[in-house]
Amino acid sequence: MRIYILLPLVLLFSCRSVKNFNANAQNAPQLLKDVKELSSDTYQGRKTGTKGVELAKNYIKKRFKSVGLKAFPNFTNYEQEFSLIDKTGKSVIGKNVIGYIPGKTTDVIVISGHYDHLGVINNQIYNGADDNASGIACLFKIASFYEKVKPNHTLVFVAFDAGEQGWKGSAAFVEKPPVSLSHIKLNINLDMISHNDKGQLFASGTFKHPELRNYIVQSNPDLRILFGHDNPKQKVDDWTYQSDQGAFAALNIPFIYFGVEDHKDYHKPTDKFENINQPFFINAANAILEIVDNIDKKSALKNTFREKLQMKTQ
Ligand SMILES: [Zn+2]
Repeated sequence: MRIYILLPLVLLFSCRSVKNFNANAQNAPQLLKDVKELSSDTYQGRKTGTKGVELAKNYIKKRFKSVGLKAFPNFTNYEQEFSLIDKTGKSVIGKNVIGYIPGKTTDVIVISGHYDHLGVINNQIYNGADDNASGIACLFKIASFYEKVKPNHTLVFVAFDAGEQGWKGSAAFVEKPPVSLSHIKLNINLDMISHNDKGQLFASGTFKHPELRNYIVQSNPDLRILFGHDNPKQKVDDWTYQSDQGAFAALNIPFIYFGVEDHKDYHKPTDKFENINQPFFINAANAILEIVDNIDKKSALKNTFREKLQMKTQ
């Protein structure tokens, strides 16, 4: 869910590494399987408070379990419930799905995406394949990679509910987080990563934290990772508060938001599995995993972002 206005952007292009990162590429069929499943008619567009979103939540819990994610003691069964008033004025219950992989330190990276979508409008199912079954499928892929390789950071994975209702899931998460907020060093949020005809994926959030660009590599000639959409001067084209990373940004927690610019199927019933760009999506998911791993490997991270920020604000 984002406001889209066409404005020319000054984009920076990073090309720090040509290292090939094929690890986990064999997971592509599972990645596509997950998007196909979550955007199928079974889930009726996954609108918050409906049976469809409940079924999607159950599928996510099943996948969290199968990739070995642990549940926090205060969110047993991976669930965090919260109440909200939806955009039609109805009082409903939202349910975030939260799991984690313990790292070698208690420093936390939160990897997130919203799993709800728009539901059924005028008898048409809004399947939300790109928005945001794609981001959730990539969460599973990242978690699955770290099932085999222990991360340095503790990785918290969250599938947020009520993204389309004004990012209520991420608001509930930071209000009652499973770990102390001071331990959260970074949020990596994924929202719409499977549909772009130009091979362009945005990594937004480096305007305030340019040091993050060191980890954002270009290792695939078929994918361009662009910076931008994070300068407050861009007004409505600044995406900082236009997806779930906003809840973290509001607390001065650094973020990288991965997403594409809006496309012809954005918030339309045609945002279906058949219309995502499969090669682009696989490339994007591989690149995101590579970047997560770059960040995790640099132990300097834990002493970098927030301390720099504190120094700036003192
Ligand atoms: Zn979205």
